[in-house]
Amino acid sequence: MYDYLVVGAGMFGSVFARKAADAGKKVLVIDRRDHIGGNCYTKQQAGIDVHWYGAHIFHTSNEEVWRFINQFGSFNNFINAPVARYKNELYNLPFNMNTFHAMWGVTTPAEAAAKIAEQRAASGISTPRNLEEQAIMLVGQDIYEKLIKGYTEKQWGRPCSELPAFIIQRLPVRFRYDNNYFNDRYQGIPEAGYTALFEKLLAGCDVQLNTDYVADRQRLSSLAAKIVYTGMIDQYYEYRYGQLEYRGLRFDHQELDEENHQGVAVVNYTEAAVPYTRVIEHKHFAFGTQSKTVLSYEYPEQWQPGKEPYYPVNNEANNALAERYRQLAQAENKVLFGGRLADYRYYDMHQVIAAALETAAKELS
Ligand code: UDP
Repeated sequence: MYDYLVVGAGMFGSVFARKAADAGKKVLVIDRRDHIGGNCYTKQQAGIDVHWYGAHIFHTSNEEVWRFINQFGSFNNFINAPVARYKNELYNLPFNMNTFHAMWGVTTPAEAAAKIAEQRAASGISTPRNLEEQAIMLVGQDIYEKLIKGYTEKQWGRPCSELPAFIIQRLPVRFRYDNNYFNDRYQGIPEAGYTALFEKLLAGCDVQLNTDYVADRQRLSSLAAKIVYTGMIDQYYEYRYGQLEYRGLRFDHQELDEENHQGVAVVNYTEAAVPYTRVIEHKHFAFGTQSKTVLSYEYPEQWQPGKEPYYPVNNEANNALAERYRQLAQAENKVLFGGRLADYRYYDMHQVIAAALETAAKELS
């Protein structure tokens, strides 16, 4: 008999499992997949750690989270500075003075701000009601058309005018020459790969892979006094109020007999005509000098049951539905919920860790 059955060996489940094991609890962690780490999973290929489910760049300003995660692996000093490609034009991301200079030839912050103000005034938008209006207000029409519209509509499979504004607020807009994609104090990639970090997080816990909770829930639930569920919340409740929407992804991993293919870890393809959104060259996350390279082409996909859910689609209808499920979850006394899928929130890794630490502190005190 276990104290906790943790469903899902991703970030939330593994952090909770670590804290529970440290508190002397007996923990069983199960996962549907044949590996730990959830979507953070990395796999070695040609001596390179490949981010198997897309780029995972760790960043946080939360001291407690940073101290916690560093106990399980050291992080390198990688800084994400992606390049956006629109047809044959290249721009730096996030939106900063380098982007504004390449787009308009402006050289000072005042000139860039004036250009954006002019385009914002021409649009007539005052209170943004959706991602399109929010983007135009933040960076103007030209950047919206070349660097946001095509990328976002591929990524989410719907018009920018039907997407929530908060998605674009994830990206900094900066009137400095600074290509760091994140504003956070700490940033890096685990030097031994994410999978090694998860092995350490899960040390001392029993782990069963290829084990699908929903397919065998009665038996699995009977193994522990309490359950920590990190899968899709609507699936947990057998879709009783209806299905939440997710966005899917497909990755095409390619190994090339070439040392340096694109010269940067992340290139975003922002025009609608290119079917993938990003190309990742993994070795650059770790300053690799191998003679080969591995690239991943990231294709957004329509999600349907049975496929991997990557992103919650946090529009009003889905959020309202998720809230109904969350109310059911709050009334449970044997089950705790957490992580991107159970909370139905567009969390980054550090936010998931913070949430798991908080849940663990409450539960284990
Ligand atoms: N985005 C964009 N152009 C880009 C990169 C991002 O328009 O070149 C927008 C897009 O709407 C995307 C959002 O910014 O969904 C958030 O991007 P982020 O890189 O945070 O997404 P993630 O890495 O979580 O997929």
